[in-house]
Amino acid sequence: MIYRGVAIAAPFHLEVITMKIIDVTHTIPTQNYSNRKTEKEGICLHITTDFAYNQALNWFRNKRAKASAHYIVERNGDIFYCVNDANNAYHAGKKYRPTASIVKNNSNRNPNSYLMGIEVVAVKNGHLTQVQFKALKELVEHLCIKHGIPLDRHHIIGHNEINTKDKIFCPVSVYNPNEVIRSIKADREIKRLRVERKELAERYKNSEYDQDRIIKKVRRQLQEMRRFYQEQLAENVELRRLLEDEGG
Ligand SMILES: [Zn+2]
Repeated sequence: MIYRGVAIAAPFHLEVITMKIIDVTHTIPTQNYSNRKTEKEGICLHITTDFAYNQALNWFRNKRAKASAHYIVERNGDIFYCVNDANNAYHAGKKYRPTASIVKNNSNRNPNSYLMGIEVVAVKNGHLTQVQFKALKELVEHLCIKHGIPLDRHHIIGHNEINTKDKIFCPVSVYNPNEVIRSIKADREIKRLRVERKELAERYKNSEYDQDRIIKKVRRQLQEMRRFYQEQLAENVELRRLLEDEGG
């Protein structure tokens, strides 16, 4: 009985959301991109500085704006796919004393030719919604896998690291690429631990193995998960809340 209580009941209720990408590349074509197709080597993160995503879309459709991004992440977690990954959206063309290594190492190239752009709907100095942050993480992970982009700070950068004059707020006044990367890695680790725990439970379910040892092992694993949450996700409000729900 104790065995079942300790080992089987999942104490963490992180729901898995399915990424919803709304393809508007055909229905709302923007002319604000170059169709000179190039392989993308990294991702540049932005904020729209405005709450209304449709204004961002309208802005992208306005030829005079000369602005666009490959994706927009709405406050409700919807993802709008605006420009084909291979095409060059106009989101990070203007450089000013860049600090990002990928930009410094490509000094004679336009960042739009090797970086995909993601606009996240948020006001300057504002915050992201939880579902929006989840959607952003899923999108970044999806694009990294799709294009073989390493999930690290050399390849996932903020607009502020390309233009250190006009874009110092984008997106770091709202969120930081570090948080996104760390949280994706944390999600992966949590998934791994959950699978491992499930396997462990399965393996011992029908065995004559000493139950005390099983319980100790599972408890150790739970402690490991808790420690992981506390260490790696100290700044992640959502996961901190889940940890509190669980009773620490
Ligand atoms: Zn930006």
